[in-house]
Amino acid sequence: MYKKLVILTIICVIMTRLVVVRCVESDVDSVKYLDYIEEKVIYLTFDDGPSPNTNKILNILKEEDVKATFFVIGNQVDIYKDTVKKLEEAGMCILPHTNTHNYRKIYKTSKDYFEDLNICREKIKNVTLKDPVNFVRFPGGVNNELLNNDVLSEIREKFLDDKCYFIEWNVYGLDAEINPKDSNTIYRATINQLCNMPKAIVLLHDGYGNVNTANCVRDIIVQAKNFGYKFKTLEEITEKDFDYFVKKNVINKRG
Ligand SMILES: [Zn+2]
Repeated sequence: MYKKLVILTIICVIMTRLVVVRCVESDVDSVKYLDYIEEKVIYLTFDDGPSPNTNKILNILKEEDVKATFFVIGNQVDIYKDTVKKLEEAGMCILPHTNTHNYRKIYKTSKDYFEDLNICREKIKNVTLKDPVNFVRFPGGVNNELLNNDVLSEIREKFLDDKCYFIEWNVYGLDAEINPKDSNTIYRATINQLCNMPKAIVLLHDGYGNVNTANCVRDIIVQAKNFGYKFKTLEEITEKDFDYFVKKNVINKRG
């Protein structure tokens, strides 16, 4: 019996080491892993809401006692003001995505982009009664086809002046693909990428079509907790985490 127990313990220790080494090896570069191993942090972010799926996701976040960040569309804020209020009351971070999410309109010139973005900011402020912090997310991210380099560099310059930062992601749940993915695929995609990340900004969606995301958010949260992650909103980001994401090209991505 004793012998069996010893053998079992040895196997467990070896397995644990293997898992840790597998996760660490793929992420070792300029960032010293050991600096970050003390605190694994996950920043869940949801784009394209609010919608009826936002309420479902919010209930799960509350039940699991975790906080997340929502990049909202201004035109959706008009329709779901109450949901935005609920997000605010629950301590979630609400940030601008843009007002229309219409790529052809917002990426025509930097002026068009800022006009649209500022309308979204104002709409958030009207509901939450405070200015959103200086983080934004480009619809489609920095590398989308309709955001050309000239317009992007003008936007970057203005952001630099305003000390405003654009947030990309290093984990993506595949929930905004042309061919919609089922909950299990979204869950697996998220968790598989998470394994390698000491710090993660996770891109998920809470728009009208994202029922499958709402259906697997709890599983993602539970597994991330099992991995030892702490949940934070972007409002709570530390300087150390911020620097990590800049180095990793996740904040202010260079294209
Ligand atoms: Zn979007």
